Amino acid sequence: MSHPMTDLAAPGVRALKPYQPGKSISELEREYGVHDIIKLASNENPLGPGPGVLEAIQAEMGDIARYPDAGGFELKQALARRHGVNADCVTLGNGSNDVLVLLAEAFLQDTLEAVYSRYSFAVYMIAVQAVGATARVAEANPPGHAQPLGHDLPAMARLVTDKTRIVFVANPNNPTGTWVGSAELRALIDEMPRETLVVVDQAYREYMVDPDYPDCVEWLDQYPNLVVTQTFSKAFGLAGLRIGYSISHPQVADVLNRVRQPFNVNNLANVAALAALADTEYLQRSVAMNNNERERLEAACVRLGLDYVPSAGNFVLVDMGQPAGPVYESLLRRSIIVRPVGNYALPNHLRISVGTPEENGRLFAALEDLVVA
Ligand SMILES: *Cc1c(COP(=O)(O)O)cnc(C)c1O
Repeated sequence: MSHPMTDLAAPGVRALKPYQPGKSISELEREYGVHDIIKLASNENPLGPGPGVLEAIQAEMGDIARYPDAGGFELKQALARRHGVNADCVTLGNGSNDVLVLLAEAFLQDTLEAVYSRYSFAVYMIAVQAVGATARVAEANPPGHAQPLGHDLPAMARLVTDKTRIVFVANPNNPTGTWVGSAELRALIDEMPRETLVVVDQAYREYMVDPDYPDCVEWLDQYPNLVVTQTFSKAFGLAGLRIGYSISHPQVADVLNRVRQPFNVNNLANVAALAALADTEYLQRSVAMNNNERERLEAACVRLGLDYVPSAGNFVLVDMGQPAGPVYESLLRRSIIVRPVGNYALPNHLRISVGTPEENGRLFAALEDLVVA
């Protein structure tokens, strides 16, 4: 059967498969008629936003008839202070997803290439394909590696040619939870030609405690081709408001600003992000809870005899040792949403976001029933 309208789409778009989001709570309610649902599927902060954020949003409500500040002046200033950079290095996005797409739009085209790792964040593939560029996908680390299924940076470097304009490094990576250390990452960036942007996606940066973790923002002075992206969706608890950003050389920021929608960050997201940045105590509490609960989740995997990828993020990739679909379905019937990762070619794995202690308790009990039974 032919699809004449589909055939009209741009060549890169024709072959695209849409991003598969985690099932939402309302969707599960509609489809299964279950209640008291816990969602451990999209790596959100299970504590929600802090109290200061809710107040800031309330206070802003009267102004939603007005367009937002297109330049994001105040928020850029606050981010610049936080990261020790100039405000002209900051590009705000409707989620960091927006910034990743802007990078592809601005720096790629059908004759050019991008490199990323197998099992890395699905948005890279979509952003690259949508503009008709060619994706070169590096093999990931083997299962027995210290960072199993994680980025093999030398393998990625070997795929770089004079056509490569972007190398995407997720650190830590989603869905694996793996990360790369300072020396390795610096070696990769050192090796890259100046025409190749290295985009280091630090969406889970706030959870990192290992002293060998490099915050690449500190390297920006040395590498004009380095771009770091971060988000308010994860540890800061603002996923539903859609706000993220990049920090880069000012000339890269200037290029992104040319393709950016002038009002890509809405009023409520703007003030919420400012308030979230101000509440460092809430951020620390969120991170501490996550890192404790992640240990409990990994310990539960050990008890249940399930292999997992040691995680640096707020989720754990668990190998169910069998096709994961039926386990996913059984958890849905128990009002628990986790994330199947068949779209990442990992049919036996589930990605489970770290919840609150109560949520995780319910998850462990359900898994015990399903896996041991
Ligand atoms: C969640 C996530 C993002 C971004 O999400 P936004 O909500 O668009 O900011 C980016 N990169 C990775 C690796 C992620 O897991």
